[in-house]
Amino acid sequence: MIRFEDLDLERMVADVLAGRELDRPVARAVLNCPDERLGELLAATLKVREVAFGRRVKLCILRNAQSGICAEDCHYCSQSRISAAEIPVYRLQSVDALVEGARQAVASGARRYCMVCSMRGPAARDIEHLSAACTRIKAEYPDLELCLSLGLMSREQADTLKAAGAGWINHNLNTSRRFYPKICTTHSWDDRVATIENVRAAGLATCSGGIVGMGEDDDDILDLAYATRRLGIDSVPINFLNPIAGTPLAGTHELTPAKCLKVACLFRLLNPRSEVRAAGGRELNLGDRQAELFNAVNSVFVNGYLTTPGLDHRRTRELIERGGFEVEEWPAG
Ligand code: SF4
Repeated sequence: MIRFEDLDLERMVADVLAGRELDRPVARAVLNCPDERLGELLAATLKVREVAFGRRVKLCILRNAQSGICAEDCHYCSQSRISAAEIPVYRLQSVDALVEGARQAVASGARRYCMVCSMRGPAARDIEHLSAACTRIKAEYPDLELCLSLGLMSREQADTLKAAGAGWINHNLNTSRRFYPKICTTHSWDDRVATIENVRAAGLATCSGGIVGMGEDDDDILDLAYATRRLGIDSVPINFLNPIAGTPLAGTHELTPAKCLKVACLFRLLNPRSEVRAAGGRELNLGDRQAELFNAVNSVFVNGYLTTPGLDHRRTRELIERGGFEVEEWPAG
């Protein structure tokens, strides 16, 4: 076992920037960093973050395009069939509504717009409908990064979305392969990996991360972080569990702000050139320490999540600037 105090942080940063994967004992020491040394870990992580992303932070906006209709049983999710959470329930929104959502995202300064559907996976008519939305949105905003999160997806479906202008597909691994059966029984971790491979084969960028604070242990967090690296994920969202009333994980409160920050550092150090993103639960779990996340992450969701509220784009912008970072703006012209 290596203690954080024994790490040579300069050497660790140099190794990461040289493309070397952190040894697992080093990664574990990062996760076990004593709270009083966290400032040193954040400063080291910032050096890695700055090489690929400077001090830029990309704003992203989610659109819950189909809400509360899912046959799966993901225990953290308010939209699953086993959730009793009181949330809006509606079928796939019209193409007009999805295009309007893109306009609102752009007006809020978002560089990426992600349309999310609660479903096991899309039917042919869903792909057709969402492709029509992508085509219209890209015609209006060629520079807006378009992402979809539609559950399990075949290669052919990914090909169709790519042809319509989608750039990214989100499909989170969520946790380690080992812990996965504890949070979902209706599909497997391997099913999720298969979708990621289909997405990549179609030439789309992959977005896949996870949720911490669900009862997993540090080995599960390490496994997940290594999986994102070894699968070469392009964009890695980190969610900090918001235990929604009515879900099986209601009442689970395992995270501290310091733990969230250590997790963010771990993901950055293992993914030095991928986007690492602060996603759901940052407000609840980090409170007034959210700005410290930007030492590790280069992207953040604003204006809330699928069924939970979050900090709006104005207040998030203030947070970014107060922390000495800058919002990534649209390309000039
Ligand atoms: S597949 Fe997606 S929408 Fe369905 S229960 Fe799981 S996380 Fe929720």
